[in-house]
Amino acid sequence: MNCKTIFAEVLVIGSGAAGLRAASALAEKGIKATVVSKGACASPEIMGFNAPVLPGDSEECYFMDVERSGYGINDSRLAKILSEKVLGEVHWLENNGVHFERDEKGNYLPIHTLGTTYARLVKAGVSTGVAEMKALQEKCKNCGVEFYMPLDILGLLKTENKVIGAYGVDKDGETVRFITKAVVLATGGCGAMQSFSTYPKPIIGDGYAMAYEAGAKLVDMEFQQFEPCCFVYPDEIRGKVIATTLLRHGAELRNGLGEPFMEKYGLTRNNAQKGNLARAMLNEVREGRGTPHGGIYYDMTMLSHDFLYVDHEIFTKPAAQVGMDLTKEMPEMMPAAHTNIGGVIIDKNCNVGVEGLYACGEVIGGLHGGNRLGGCAGAETVVFGHIAGDGAADYVLAGAAMPSEADIDSAWQKADERMKAVMTRSGDVKTEDIRKRLGETMFNNLGILRNAESIAKAAADVEEMNGLVKNAAVSGVKDMAEVIHCENMLLLAEMQIKASDMRKESRGVYFREDYPTQNDTEWLANVVISKTDAGMDISVRKAINDTTF
Ligand SMILES: Cc1cc2nc3c(=O)[nH]c(=O)nc-3n(C[C@H](O)[C@H](O)[C@H](O)COP(=O)(O)OP(=O)(O)OC[C@H]3O[C@@H](n4cnc5c(N)ncnc54)[C@H](O)[C@@H]3O)c2cc1C
Repeated sequence: MNCKTIFAEVLVIGSGAAGLRAASALAEKGIKATVVSKGACASPEIMGFNAPVLPGDSEECYFMDVERSGYGINDSRLAKILSEKVLGEVHWLENNGVHFERDEKGNYLPIHTLGTTYARLVKAGVSTGVAEMKALQEKCKNCGVEFYMPLDILGLLKTENKVIGAYGVDKDGETVRFITKAVVLATGGCGAMQSFSTYPKPIIGDGYAMAYEAGAKLVDMEFQQFEPCCFVYPDEIRGKVIATTLLRHGAELRNGLGEPFMEKYGLTRNNAQKGNLARAMLNEVREGRGTPHGGIYYDMTMLSHDFLYVDHEIFTKPAAQVGMDLTKEMPEMMPAAHTNIGGVIIDKNCNVGVEGLYACGEVIGGLHGGNRLGGCAGAETVVFGHIAGDGAADYVLAGAAMPSEADIDSAWQKADERMKAVMTRSGDVKTEDIRKRLGETMFNNLGILRNAESIAKAAADVEEMNGLVKNAAVSGVKDMAEVIHCENMLLLAEMQIKASDMRKESRGVYFREDYPTQNDTEWLANVVISKTDAGMDISVRKAINDTTF
C-alpha cells in the first residue's frame, strides 16, 4: 500500500500523561521524541494522584498500602519503585508549572481517599489532569518534541527480534509508517471496550494487542476495575464519576427503597474498596432493589453546598454541569468499567522483554496486583513514564542504530500484507455493530461478577464475532483501520476470557460467583499470557514478593 515514511529517533505512542512524561524524559536526555496519538485520553480526567506528602507519611507506608490493597499479588518491585519515585514526580511537575494545593505555610492539602493510611491525593484545582497535561504539553513543545495527532496506530513494525517502528492511518486516511530506534507504548487502558465505561471512546486497548503481537508478555488481564459511583442518568453525564471518597465524609449509598446497605455486606467507610462496593451495588440491583434507572442512590444531602460544590468541586462538576443540586437530590449511580489493572510485563527500565520496545502508564501490568488504590494510576503514569523515557534514551545512547533498509522492508512487508488482506473484505457486517455487541458481552459476562457459564458465553460470543469481522464491510482505509481495532479488541477479549477461565478463585476486584473465596494456597499467583507459534499461551507464575529486580 502507498504510505508516507517518517524517520523518528524514538516514537512514543500515546499523548496521555505517561506518553508525555516519557517524551519529556527523552528530551531531557537529548533524544528526539516523536509523539503520535489518536488524541483522546483518560489523563485529563485525573482528579488527583497519590503521593506521601504529609508529615508522618513515608515511602514505606505508601508501599505497604499499595501492597495491602493488591491482595498479595502485586509485583512488589514495581510497587517499591512507585513508592520511592512518586514524590520526585510531584516536585518535577511543580517545577514545570503544576500548582498542587498547599496551605499558606506551604503544606500540601491532599484528599484522603478510601484505602490509604494517610491523605495522599494531591490535586491542582478542579482538574489536576488538565493542569498536568497542560504542563506536560508545554514542556514537550519547549523541548522540541514532535507531534502527529490525530493519528491512529494499527501495529508495530518488527524484525525477527526487534521493534523498529509502527504504522497507522492519519486523519486524511493516509497510511503512515514511522521508522525508529525505539518505541514507547503509552496507549492507556481498555475501559471503552465495555458498554458502560468511564473511558473516552478511543481507549479500547490497542496497546495490549500490539505488545502481545510483538512478543511481550501480559499479566493478570482478568483484573478490570469498576468505578462504583458513575451516573446512569441523565444521559449527558452517563458514565461520569463521583469519587467514593465522599463516603468518608458521611455520604451514604442507598438502594431504590432508600435503605443504606453497605453494612449488610460487611462494608464500612474504612474497609470499602472499589471492588467490594461495586459488587454490593450490583447485588442490590439484581435483587430488585434498584432505582428507577437501574442504579443505586448516592446520598450526599447531609453535606453542605459549599463542601460539595466548592471544597469538592473536583468531584461534583458533572452534577453542576446538568444543574443537579446534590444537597437536595440523590443521583442514580452504577459501577462502570474503569481502570485495567493487568497489562504488559516490564523490567526496571520499562522494557517489555523485546528489544526496542518500552511501555508505561496504564498499559503496563503487575503494579496494582488484585486491586488498584484510587489515585495510584495517575502516580503510575508519571513515575513509569519517566522511567520508560529514560530507558529508551539509554538504549539509544548505548548505540542503537536506525534499522537497515532490509529490516525496514521485511517488517513493512508483514504490515502491508495485513492491511491489504483487510482491504479485500467485502461483506456487509458493520464494525460498529461488532463493537457494540462486544461491549455488551464483556460488560454482562466478564464484568463485576463472572462464573464458568458467563465466561463460556463470552468465549462463544467472541468466537462468533471473530467470524463476523472477516465479513466486515471495508470500502477504504478508515474502514480497514476500524476492522483492525475490532480485531485488537477481540484479541484482548480472548486474553481476558482465558485468564478468567484460569483463575478459579475471587481476589480484589476479580469476583467469581462459582469460586467466591480467596484461595491463598493456590492463587498467590499471576496469570501470564504470551504469543507462541501454537497460539495464545497461558500460564501461572508465583506472585513476585521480592522488591529487587
Ligand atoms: C473518569 C476517570 C477518572 C479518573 N480519575 C483518576 C484519579 O483521580 N486518579 C488516578 O490516579 N487515576 C484516575 N483515573 C485513571 C487514569 O486517568 C488513567 O489510568 C491514566 O490517565 C492513564 O494514563 P495513560 O497515559 O497511561 O493513558 P491515557 O491518558 O489514556 O492515554 C493513552 C493515549 O494513547 C493513545 N492511543 C491509544 N491507542 C492508540 C492507537 N492505536 N494509536 C494512537 N494512539 C493511541 C490515546 O489517544 C491517548 O493519547 C481516572 C480515569 C478516568 C477515565
